[in-house]
Amino acid sequence: MQISTSSPIVLKTGRAVPQAAKVEIPLIDLSFQHQPLQSKIEQAIQGIIQRGDYILGWAVTEFEFAFAHACGCHHGVGVGSGTDAIALGLRACGLQPGDEVLVPANVPVPTLLGVLAAGVTPILVDCILETGLIDIVAAEKAISPRTRAILPVHLYGQMVSPRQLLDLASTFDLVIFEDATQAHLAEREGYRAGSVGMAAAFCFSPWKNLGGVGDGGLVVTRHHEIATQVRSLCNFGATRKHYHPYVGTNSRLDSLQAAVLTVKLSLLSRWNSDRNSLAQYYDELFSQQGTGIQPLRNDAGSGHVYERYILRVTPSSSVSRSVLQAILTANGIQTDIPMAMPCYSQPAFRGLGYSFGSFPNTDALSQQSLLLPLYPGLSLANVRRVAETVLAAGGDRQYYDIFYPCHWA
Ligand SMILES: *Cc1c(COP(=O)(O)O)cnc(C)c1O
Repeated sequence: MQISTSSPIVLKTGRAVPQAAKVEIPLIDLSFQHQPLQSKIEQAIQGIIQRGDYILGWAVTEFEFAFAHACGCHHGVGVGSGTDAIALGLRACGLQPGDEVLVPANVPVPTLLGVLAAGVTPILVDCILETGLIDIVAAEKAISPRTRAILPVHLYGQMVSPRQLLDLASTFDLVIFEDATQAHLAEREGYRAGSVGMAAAFCFSPWKNLGGVGDGGLVVTRHHEIATQVRSLCNFGATRKHYHPYVGTNSRLDSLQAAVLTVKLSLLSRWNSDRNSLAQYYDELFSQQGTGIQPLRNDAGSGHVYERYILRVTPSSSVSRSVLQAILTANGIQTDIPMAMPCYSQPAFRGLGYSFGSFPNTDALSQQSLLLPLYPGLSLANVRRVAETVLAAGGDRQYYDIFYPCHWA
């Protein structure tokens, strides 16, 4: 939400806050990633154009192999997007129409679209308020005789506990299909994202931890048959030339994207640890206060790859989220509200039959979450500036009582 106001915003201390003139600290800035790799990326693109193997070329094979191995898996199959990686990956795991799949209720829209495209029935399960990760206890309660799989989302770069997932899956004989689209090379309990379940989906849209220069996705798996089937499904359902045993689709990773991704993969671990350090600094700064504003909890330690950094503006906060966001905007700090409207209450998914209020933690997170700037190359000084602005706003009652009428709060 954008609030523009002509009256100057003045802190209790008497300091005037400058009006929102321009963004000084953006949510994300890809130029830091691209600068050191610019010439290599351009060479890679030129190479593809010279060779002309735009589709299913060598660059794709090379990237599939490199990324799958980085995840601790033998097989990777490039597809057109993360959404398709979910849809085709689920189908290749043998799930049939009518099978029930446990899905966190705070799932982003593309994940739910992928699940529906696979023809299976999503059964939504609430998340844990402090982390946003699927609540395994609630998942167990939602199991029915038709439940065949669980689809954990490693949300914002933090893996769902592999130990808990594997325990649940072995007790109830469930397939685990990981949505790792926000968790490239994330780790927890000795597992890499993508290596816990039967298969996993990754996404390489530009703003993910590893992003191409357009859309792209990948299914990783340890199982040869699953990889083979995804390879066929994404290529018109053909298993060889002129032979189509499946109703597939056209969803392949472009050689151009693959070539760029291979170049960028070389720096992914470094970028991830930068994200982790910046997030730790945020955490440290926010831990010093008791204003009801707190980050999502990190249970994965250094294995968290922070695709996003999320603050919770809780009901005990002295400032509302919309006012806090307006104050940050006025200070040149760009923020966003992730999943402002939970999937299950979107008109498109009314057919799933859930009514508003079905998932209290999901609802609370959609009302409380605020996305702060975080990207490799963001300076510690700017992290401090963001955090200090948040803290000043949260700790300063008059700041909003005076300058924002209550209908904004
Ligand atoms: C990005 C993302 C996707 C979708 O990926 P696309 O490549 O944009 O289709 C799916 N699920 C989650 C959780 C994502 O963050």
